[in-house]
Amino acid sequence: MKQPAQASRWRRRCSAKTPAGAVISRRQSPLPASKKLKHAGDFIIVDLRSIALQGLCPRRPIRAGNRKALLFWHERHRFCSNCGKPTTSAQAGWRRDCVACGANHFPRTDPCVIMLAIHGEQCLLGRQTRFPPGMWSALAGFVEPGESLEEAVRRETLEEAGIPAGRVAYFASQPWPFPMSIMIGAFAEAKSDKLKIDEVELEAARWVTKDECRLLLTGKHPARFFAPPPLAIAHHLIKTFVERGAGVFD
Ligand SMILES: [Zn+2]
Repeated sequence: MKQPAQASRWRRRCSAKTPAGAVISRRQSPLPASKKLKHAGDFIIVDLRSIALQGLCPRRPIRAGNRKALLFWHERHRFCSNCGKPTTSAQAGWRRDCVACGANHFPRTDPCVIMLAIHGEQCLLGRQTRFPPGMWSALAGFVEPGESLEEAVRRETLEEAGIPAGRVAYFASQPWPFPMSIMIGAFAEAKSDKLKIDEVELEAARWVTKDECRLLLTGKHPARFFAPPPLAIAHHLIKTFVERGAGVFD
């Protein structure tokens, strides 16, 4: 997060912009520029994910996420995956070209499903070890090659919690540039409520009633448990279940 007193110096120092708006040094590629800024000592560096999860979202969160994902992609694609030679930025940072074999490389987005399994009047929430203490959320996982979104939802629900799922209903999607994903939200109709948790993926999982979901969403849970904030699609999956119950499949 840039300090106000540094603003004019920042503008002089970082005088070139990509059309995407990501500010980089004229003389350097995005990688050393970003590293240099991090270690310059002129700025307080706060990760965008932390800002977002604290509800301190910038005015244009989509653009900020876009820049973060692009800079991460540049950092990780300095060499050609086809021949191993260096690549250079092209098309204002929206492509990298190989100097040796001519291959073009484009920014990627990794699809990830996030699903709320529903069994009767309860939904399934879980905890990953990296979650903040007390936070419970919907299950999630990456889509594998050759897999439909529905298949990914059913596989992840079965793998992580041992729950076979029937109907899958699409809900909404959300860019998740941490580092470069898109979250595809869905409801999954659980065919059983007997949990068998994959302890590598999940610290815990349990069925939660609508009443308890309300407490999680409003921060009034007696055990100080809570759901993800409104910024996260998981919040809206849980909220919609509270409002519509099994009607989410209609
Ligand atoms: Zn190459």
